[in-house]
Amino acid sequence: TATAPTERTGTEVRLTKISKSYGAFTAVHPLDLTVPGGSFFALLGASGCGKTTTLRMIAGLEDPSSGTVELAGADVTALPPHKRPVNTVFQSYALFPHLDIYENVAFGLRRRGIKSVKKQVGDMLDLVQLGDFARRKPQQLSGGQQQRVAVARALINHPQVLLLDEPLGALDLKLRRQMQLELKRIQTEVGITFIHVTHDQEEAMTMADTVAVMNGGRVEQLGAPADLYETPRTTFVANFLGTSNLIAADVLDASGSDLVLQAASSKLALPAERCTVTPRTGGRLLIGIRPEKISLTHADDAGTVPDGRNRVTGRIATSSFIGVSTQYLVDSPVTAGAAPLAVYEQNIERDRRLVPGAEVVLHWNPGHSFGLDA
Ligand code: ATP
Repeated sequence: TATAPTERTGTEVRLTKISKSYGAFTAVHPLDLTVPGGSFFALLGASGCGKTTTLRMIAGLEDPSSGTVELAGADVTALPPHKRPVNTVFQSYALFPHLDIYENVAFGLRRRGIKSVKKQVGDMLDLVQLGDFARRKPQQLSGGQQQRVAVARALINHPQVLLLDEPLGALDLKLRRQMQLELKRIQTEVGITFIHVTHDQEEAMTMADTVAVMNGGRVEQLGAPADLYETPRTTFVANFLGTSNLIAADVLDASGSDLVLQAASSKLALPAERCTVTPRTGGRLLIGIRPEKISLTHADDAGTVPDGRNRVTGRIATSSFIGVSTQYLVDSPVTAGAAPLAVYEQNIERDRRLVPGAEVVLHWNPGHSFGLDA
């Protein structure tokens, strides 16, 4: 009988009712979280939301006030950091300045008394594409290269889980983007579980398979980046991941599969399934619609807008050409004096761009909007 090849699935990380309080202050409220084995997982949130504390509890650098940490089903809550099959890469790379790159990477092996390190160190330097830099000292490398040494130094110990605490925070934007793709490549190649802490939504969405959005010591929503972006469940998530254009509307009829809503004098439709609350006739809702999902048509051409699209009137307030798109802010009666609606249009010819003051119709596919609790 043939045996099935063993699949490399990586180590699942499971947090059960884990919390952390400092005196009367609760940094992390009891939290249940499962990180799938072999995935690239991001903890995303603003400063102070508890993401670093959560990471440090997984590493064993912080004792939880309650709850358990399991790695591949084994409870490690009581184990000190060095007894856990976990390594952490910090923002401050903490490389040894007096050792060259080769010896920095070899350090973990030598400490464990391993004599022949050449092949492993060589492989690891190749993995992070620093094979030619082995004999340089850390201060002779760029920030991004030093960051890759830190990753190599952590990976050489063959951790089951790699924790990354804002590892790209010290890099400039261009280098950070490069390193995001680089880390993603490395994770795919080694196939172990990566848990990455960041406050940068673009970074989380670029790299992670699954993102947990944290706010005030709690996970607000967990999901694939595209799902979080297209179907946020709270206004916090809607606003934290991109621009949301929230329109307050009255629910005229909640009985059908398409809700009938009204904002100012505009009747709007919203599929009930795109709503994260149970709407009721006579209640209120927030309709959210992403800037690139809205189209603009000059008011003179309003007759050309296809049937079945939600439409509201507006007047262009500002127009900014930023290369890949033209970004408009549009005043509209539906915002009731709140922030104008943001609209991003791609690939429009220079002479078709709308100028401030132009009267327009904003229109979108109802299925591209989402409904939130008002
Ligand atoms: P940042 O991105 O700024 O690191 P974070 O989301 O990672 O933020 P944490 O470092 O997890 O946030 O901190 C969560 C909260 O717990 C913060 O309000 C912080 O001030 C508080 N906190 C962290 N460590 C301690 C401590 N040792 N004593 C008291 N309060 C603490």
